[in-house]
Amino acid sequence: MLEEIKRLLGFSKNIAIITHRNPDGDAIGSSLALKKYLEKKNHIVHVMAPSEYPASLHFLSDIQSVIITDEEKHLAEKILLQAEIIFCLDFNALDRIDKIDHAVSGNKEAVKIIIDHHLDPEPFADHIITDTEASSTSEIIFQFIQDLDEIHLIDRQIGECILTGIITDTGSFRYGTRANTYAVAATLKKMGVDDHYIQDKISNSLLEKNLRLLGHCLANRMEVLEEYRAAYIYLTKEDYKNFDIKRGDTEGIVNYLLMMKNIDIAAFIMEQPTIVKISLRSKGDISVQEMARKYFRGGGHKNASGGGVYAKLEDIIERFKEVIPKYIPKVEV
Ligand code: 5GP
Ligand code: MN
Repeated sequence: MLEEIKRLLGFSKNIAIITHRNPDGDAIGSSLALKKYLEKKNHIVHVMAPSEYPASLHFLSDIQSVIITDEEKHLAEKILLQAEIIFCLDFNALDRIDKIDHAVSGNKEAVKIIIDHHLDPEPFADHIITDTEASSTSEIIFQFIQDLDEIHLIDRQIGECILTGIITDTGSFRYGTRANTYAVAATLKKMGVDDHYIQDKISNSLLEKNLRLLGHCLANRMEVLEEYRAAYIYLTKEDYKNFDIKRGDTEGIVNYLLMMKNIDIAAFIMEQPTIVKISLRSKGDISVQEMARKYFRGGGHKNASGGGVYAKLEDIIERFKEVIPKYIPKVEV
């Protein structure tokens, strides 16, 4: 497969890179890293995501080139339908690029390549480069360029994008790491990539309203189900209005629940205009991926998954409470 891809990339092509809705640091970092690498090889490359990326990523060079397909649908369709190669990064099921998925599946001529680290890929691509043990898609991009014998093309800017993806998807090296994650990070640091600068940009970019929202979540919207080692936070439509919550503002809140001793499973349940979205996190062997897939129309990783359901907020909270016992044996408290 690698030989085939090497051959494909041997001469200039129109290439589209698309990543998932609500793109995070790994989605954007891996996409921009791949774009910059392919541009060095004289390809014409466009990066797109269905919806806006978090403001904490604005420091990445070239991020303004990312096309938001919800906002520029015609342009995105045109690029996708004319592309000779379509890279799908950091996702592996077409519903993660809803509203623009038709332009990916509609381009029958393009060679489609998935590069991803999630479980259970859908077979919609010609080539699937997947490694579910990898910390991030960004880590796989590094490996991919290395496997193509072109590690010398990784410059500081590409390195910055890759390290951003690794740092965001591992919660600053706290989960999902393996030895290779550190090896890649070490190589990038040796190249002069400033990890402290990236950590600062990513961690310290909150606004006053974000901390006030966090306070509200922890003080007024948190429930602990001690006997199931579980906890959840929910937000209503009114909360969204009152706290002026925009996409990305709720990022990371779910992780606070796992900071509690004896809590192994956490949910963040958000009432959105049409659907209820859920973010699930777990520790150790408990698979929230299965829970997200079976009960919340979603998926992800073993310890970090999400989904979205057309239902009432109360019903999703109830459903979460009902399914926890299947995943965690009740303990005496
Ligand atoms: P988050 O909870 O931060 O939104 O997402 C955590 C993980 O779950 C991410 O790796 C993401 O890929 C996955 N995920 C989130 N929402 C969905 C969804 O609606 N469908 C699928 N298949 N995966 C999701
Ligand atoms: Mn990722």
